[in-house]
Amino acid sequence: MVSFGHVIDGEERGSRHGARFDSVDPWAREPWADVALGTAEDASDAVAAARRAFDEGPWPRMGHAERGALLHRLADLVEENSDELARADSRDMGKPVADAAGKDVPRTAQNFRFFADHARLATAEAYPMDTGHHAYARFEPAGVVAAIAPWNFPLMLESWKVAPALAWGNTIVLKPAEDTPASATILARLAVEAGLPSGVLNVLHGYGPDSAGEALTTDPRVDRITFTGESGTGRAITAAAARNLTPVSLELGGKGANLVFADADLAAAVDWSIKAIFTNAGQVCLAGSRLYVEHAVFDEFTARFVAAAEALVVGDPADPRTQIGPLASETHWKKVCGYLEDPAGKVLTGGRGDGWTVRPTVIVDAPADAPIQREEVFGPVVTLTPFDSEAEAVRLANDSPYGLNAMVFTENLSRAHRVAAALRAGTVWTNCFFVRDLRAPFGGVGDSGWGREGGNFSREFFTEPKAVVMAIQP
Ligand code: NAD
Repeated sequence: MVSFGHVIDGEERGSRHGARFDSVDPWAREPWADVALGTAEDASDAVAAARRAFDEGPWPRMGHAERGALLHRLADLVEENSDELARADSRDMGKPVADAAGKDVPRTAQNFRFFADHARLATAEAYPMDTGHHAYARFEPAGVVAAIAPWNFPLMLESWKVAPALAWGNTIVLKPAEDTPASATILARLAVEAGLPSGVLNVLHGYGPDSAGEALTTDPRVDRITFTGESGTGRAITAAAARNLTPVSLELGGKGANLVFADADLAAAVDWSIKAIFTNAGQVCLAGSRLYVEHAVFDEFTARFVAAAEALVVGDPADPRTQIGPLASETHWKKVCGYLEDPAGKVLTGGRGDGWTVRPTVIVDAPADAPIQREEVFGPVVTLTPFDSEAEAVRLANDSPYGLNAMVFTENLSRAHRVAAALRAGTVWTNCFFVRDLRAPFGGVGDSGWGREGGNFSREFFTEPKAVVMAIQP
């Protein structure tokens, strides 16, 4: 068994009361790591460390160039330790190690480099006034950030919060999901090695409700809460944060609609649609889990899509050929299997696999109001539904409480722009999926979240913009 502690004030340590919990490897279906279990008292210690580092330490007072150099050093260390980080996420939640090493770790390094450079190169607005005054804006660090993360892309999504918060001079308490404690701890160790001052990046392990997570959301010493996870948890966190009026950013669930028109490049549409739902075993907030295909090509698309789904390799996440590993935990696997017990439609392929796996599952003929069409399954399960017109496709896509993202496949340029504008979603990908520019806004509407992250959008959240007004002597 490997051991992981909290990292508070630059030191790895156990919990005040010595409590620990296991992280279970979902492929082996047995514990692989033993982890410090945080309580409200440990959360208080972590916030106190971050508070001290912010109020008294050098981090918020450094220039962007000096801070940026340390974050670049951290990015280098992330790459140098890619194998260990990738294995940590893979063992914690069953992600194919090839995906973790090939995609998640490089993107983590990119997040640190991008936000370090973005902060260093950022400009602020000035407002010349007619009254003999001059006003300008400053972006000052917000303070102590509590970052609460999910288990589906542990390291990568944590860095998406940690990197901009650090680049803008804040200090952090990061609480990784209880299913995925390992990579956050390794990241905090690397931050110490990179030379970040102690207390700047603290990692706290534990559960959410009535535990370490909730304690972070009610602590008045916390200035920002950035959360990624389920919509229900987002509501609980928002309610808790309201007591102190702590600003909250929420990246929540999704039920991505994927529209394939008859004029699409069908081979490309099949390829992207497979990626959109089966990447990470469908445990992706952005998953294209509702696939709508124009009648004229429905049968042909479905036949090709089912064949491609059946060709995916399900198995041991440590095997580099594996494309779909087990689901992240037994609890989550049971939840996904629950949907398959009563799928409300016809299952063309898929179903339960060995251990805690679910084979790529394709369902047709499910009514629009069935749970499988409306709720976030968060597994390798997709519904296919035909449509007859552009208006119907948009109506079906928008008929969801979620609005994180949508995909459109068409070779008709005007239609691509028209439909992208009509879709109620934070991101629309046209003839592609998951392609990201880190300057672009990322977030959702409706039950998919509050606020946006990325580029200047992250700056708005992780800083206190200040107006300075100067009188100019005539
Ligand atoms: P979750 O909401 O169960 O847990 C997320 C985190 O919140 C964990 O660290 C957990 O310990 C903590 N938590 C739970 N209750 C809490 C409380 N009351 N107070 C404070 N902290 C609490 O989510 P999950 O199952 O880990 O992740 C899957 C969900 O995340 C899916 O709904 C998925 O769509 C969503 N997600 C969204 C995005 C996005 O960018 N929009 C990205 C990835 C995942």
